[in-house]
Amino acid sequence: MNASRIVVVGSLAFDNVETPRAKVDLAVGGAASYFAVAASFFAPVAIVGVVGRDFPPATLAFFRARGIDLEGLQIADGQTFRWTGRYHENMNLRDTLDLQLNVFADFIPQLPSSYRQAEICFLANIDPALQLRVLSDLQQPRLVAADTMNYWIENAQPKLIELLKRVELLVINDQEAYQLSGRDNIVKAARAIIAMGPRHVIIKRGEYGAVHFSADSVFAVPAYPLEEVVDPTGAGDTFAGGLMGWLAKQGTLTVAAIRQGMVYGSVLASMVVEDFSFNRLRELDQEGIDRRYRQFVALTQF
Ligand code: AMP
Repeated sequence: MNASRIVVVGSLAFDNVETPRAKVDLAVGGAASYFAVAASFFAPVAIVGVVGRDFPPATLAFFRARGIDLEGLQIADGQTFRWTGRYHENMNLRDTLDLQLNVFADFIPQLPSSYRQAEICFLANIDPALQLRVLSDLQQPRLVAADTMNYWIENAQPKLIELLKRVELLVINDQEAYQLSGRDNIVKAARAIIAMGPRHVIIKRGEYGAVHFSADSVFAVPAYPLEEVVDPTGAGDTFAGGLMGWLAKQGTLTVAAIRQGMVYGSVLASMVVEDFSFNRLRELDQEGIDRRYRQFVALTQF
């Protein structure tokens, strides 16, 4: 069976990143970039987003070479979105030092007609009003998953609550889950979020892995223990890309498929943090993915 196509909407960015041991300027990033590259190992992906004229043509060529459809990517006059972040010694913690929306400020997602029949959609972290807009342009989505962040929880709660009613799977980090639910316990937070709409919630916990909750099941996957993390940026979006790519390939949203998908998501996330941007994924092949998948199986077998 051919994998279903995934439409992703989200940021494409230049990131300036500083960790306790390394620093990079103008690394290509953004939630949609990381997601699309990761998902493309398993399924066809189509991006909805915007970049400026400064976005590297070589990166666009790389996306195309991975089979990523860019018809819904607007190239606008102006500069690409820029994010500057600094990680603490504990790299689960980071501060956003600067954020320049640039062409993202006036972004209105437009879905090409060829995207409208897509059955699977990932609404990466952007304004919930825009996430809703993309959703309403899809004719018959079968699986809608979304991410969000503290800014929207604080500043766009009514739209976010409206969105959650239409989302099947929310992939969110632990701090955001606590903030969204008003609970400070992961189980209570997940239950409260499920009551808001999504049948499935996956809570990402950085270097501690991720936990899936549905009404009647819980599953936890660890993060792969790495001796050195070069740059954690994009790990969450890469995780979501691997997960959604796997689900698109399986064509079903069973708990078993979600569990395997979480392991594939963790495999790719554990690799993307070994280098800046998504460079580590450029040379990766199926054999490399399978090797680390087996390491995950060994890691959790008892
Ligand atoms: P992650 O580390 O998975 O949370 O994703 C980091 C990526 O999200 C970076 O490449 C940033 O460019 C992008 N990003 C950071 N802040 C925002 C924001 N407010 N809106 C959209 N994308 C963002």
